[in-house]
Amino acid sequence: MFSIPVADRMSRLGTETAFEVLARARALEAQGRNIVHLEIGEPDFDTPVNIRDAAKRAIDEGFTHYGPSAGLPELREAIASYIGTTRGLPFTADEVVVTPGGKPIMYFVMTAVLNEGDEALYPNPGFPIYESVINFLGATPVPVRLSEENDFRLDLDDLEAKLSDRSRLLILNSPHNPTGSVLTRDDINRIAGLVRGRNLLVLSDEIYSRMLYQGEFVSIASLPGMRDQTCILDGFSKTYAMTGWRLGYGVMPVDLATLVARLMTNSNSCTASFIQRAGVEALQGPQESVTEMVAEFRRRRDMIVDGLNAIPGISCREPHGAFYVFPNITGTGVRSDVFADALLADHGVAALAGTSFGKYGEGYLRLSYANSLSQIRLALDRIGDAARSIRS
Ligand code: PLP
Repeated sequence: MFSIPVADRMSRLGTETAFEVLARARALEAQGRNIVHLEIGEPDFDTPVNIRDAAKRAIDEGFTHYGPSAGLPELREAIASYIGTTRGLPFTADEVVVTPGGKPIMYFVMTAVLNEGDEALYPNPGFPIYESVINFLGATPVPVRLSEENDFRLDLDDLEAKLSDRSRLLILNSPHNPTGSVLTRDDINRIAGLVRGRNLLVLSDEIYSRMLYQGEFVSIASLPGMRDQTCILDGFSKTYAMTGWRLGYGVMPVDLATLVARLMTNSNSCTASFIQRAGVEALQGPQESVTEMVAEFRRRRDMIVDGLNAIPGISCREPHGAFYVFPNITGTGVRSDVFADALLADHGVAALAGTSFGKYGEGYLRLSYANSLSQIRLALDRIGDAARSIRS
């Protein structure tokens, strides 16, 4: 019997559990169950109308053809200017590569810099695609711990101990998925001191940079000497509620940008032209919708943190950014995946086990509060019921 040949490397490719839990939740809904969705990391807001209109106009104006692999010049200019203003140092358009979402930047940059056996350091718990792609490329994954005692900020002693002559990549993510932690200026200064001048690239995933509730956002690229050693990853998915549009970018040294553009030529050819025109409007048009969305997220954060802390067996730190909480559930006495499965199957709340983000996520759940206050209230009641029935 014919069986499709499968390359060995496919066994090393991981996944993002959020999409699997979403599919399970949708299957339960199809059977008539009511589910509160706290699993997927996407704003529940509509894309602002000025951005939608810009895309419609662009289609009518004929932006329906191939464009340059690295992105339309006007969008690359707009991104260079936006990143220059928000990170406080000048960038040029030839340092920008536009991609369908921010995720491809991870894949392309890692493909461009990592040889087999090279060491790549990344946050654990952390966005699962980092570890997945490091493994896929045959590089060596080196997880750096984020612990609750340290407010889920990267453990810099652990980082220092794990840096070696073979380290070629350090991934940072602040504000952080899944914990909502934000690295302080002191943290970033110390990290820069550890890596500056090494033969190592920093991939700084700054996709949640605008979702900040307290403290300050600092990009490591803005520190002396770090700009030429850093690739900034950012995009439109979270900031402008554009997850389904697929629009993101990387800002990196020109030599690396040339390689990433070549990977674009070999894969997507280019990002959809009319969507890139909408991206120009997103960056240059009114920003009130972002401010309002962040204010609403803050209200939700406050409600979910208070609500979780009122449930016996659960405790939750207050995250400073992004739209996730990472409550400690060890007081319930069950493993994260057991709790998450029971929550979905028996109580109608879709959430992710902390271990979906790496081994150091055991003992935690990840909840996305990109849902309405009324749905969050309902979820809190159900999580309380789940914790009580698990403990009894
Ligand atoms: N980086 C982090 C930390 C994320 O959480 C996500 C999405 O969930 C992304 C990058 C990718 O975003 P997108 O590809 O939708 O732009």
